[in-house]
Amino acid sequence: MRFCALATFWRFATLHVAPLIKPPLAVLLPQYCKVLDRSDLVGVLRCGDSSDCREHIGCLSLIPTKLRIANNYSSVLFSFENIRDRETMTGPAKITSKTGVEEFLSKYDDFLFDCDGVLWQGDVLLPHVKETLNLLRERGKRLIFVTNNSTKSRKAYTKKFAKLGIEVTPEEIFGSAYSAAVYLKKVVKFPADKKVLVLGESGIEEELASEGIQFVGGTDPALRRDIKPEDYDEIVPDPSIGCVLSGLDLHINYLKLSMALANLQVPETLFLATNIDSTYPTHGKLFPGAGTICAPLVLASKRQPISLGKPSKAMMDCVKAKFEFVPARTCMVGDRLDTDIRFGQDGGLGTLFVLTGVNTESDILAENAETVPKHYMTKLGDIFELLN
Ligand SMILES: [Mg+2]
Repeated sequence: MRFCALATFWRFATLHVAPLIKPPLAVLLPQYCKVLDRSDLVGVLRCGDSSDCREHIGCLSLIPTKLRIANNYSSVLFSFENIRDRETMTGPAKITSKTGVEEFLSKYDDFLFDCDGVLWQGDVLLPHVKETLNLLRERGKRLIFVTNNSTKSRKAYTKKFAKLGIEVTPEEIFGSAYSAAVYLKKVVKFPADKKVLVLGESGIEEELASEGIQFVGGTDPALRRDIKPEDYDEIVPDPSIGCVLSGLDLHINYLKLSMALANLQVPETLFLATNIDSTYPTHGKLFPGAGTICAPLVLASKRQPISLGKPSKAMMDCVKAKFEFVPARTCMVGDRLDTDIRFGQDGGLGTLFVLTGVNTESDILAENAETVPKHYMTKLGDIFELLN
């Protein structure tokens, strides 16, 4: 039965699908069919939506946006608009030469940069980052800095750049705290008479204030204490709170979690997270990320937050709305595969992975690598070094 389905599919693919595919993919189609075993292929034939297809053929990064299979195979419909590029099919391209850099730069007008692990490590600027950013600006490229770190506002981030000798404007920075504020203001149209209960630091408070959104919690010193017996009676949902927003809170405690949970038990209360990173890499080590702050609430409330950080689509939508870039001419540069590179790929952007942060070269070259960038290089400063 399975073999029969395989043969039917193959006959159909050869006669009707291959001629419609762009040249590099037509070459790859036989390879795609060859590496899948029969059960996988039958799985593909039987699946009914794109998420199933993604799972079955993700091993080759062949991701049709539509793949509809009906009982009659003649109604198979492929849409290849979102297929990964040829480089991804054959492995990521390592940039190691002047020609390689020139070719890479010619592909993109706009660059989205992750910060920690790409531009700096903790408080140490990585080699030739400043020169590389200057070189990109001189060539007319637009630079946008996208970070999941919610502890700093865009203004505070500008100061960090300045301290390291890099000139940027707050408008060039897009942090997850700002992303959450924009989402509340522009997407949700959060009511002016409602407040956000913040689990997080001043970065979130500043960005909410910049969008005119009222908030409680956050850095309020009154909440930096142990829970008291009377709190068990007094902690109840607050009707003025319309959203619980969770970020990286360096002073998280049982009292704050209890207040958040009380409000999340009201189904109408929004549950947002600036990001859900499992770890926070800094100073060459890993610390608990913002995802560990909302994790107890996910467990207790049985609700999932909408994440406004990389790799969420919600953040990409906010960045796109603000900067209006052309995805195919834009490159996401990052050191982390499950956030930065996924973010770029899911948004239809080119991707450049650097080896100065969380993930390593072996992570992308592994046979079972889940996320494979389009390009990679040892460090961002190689752009300047290879051109000079
Ligand atoms: Mg990073």
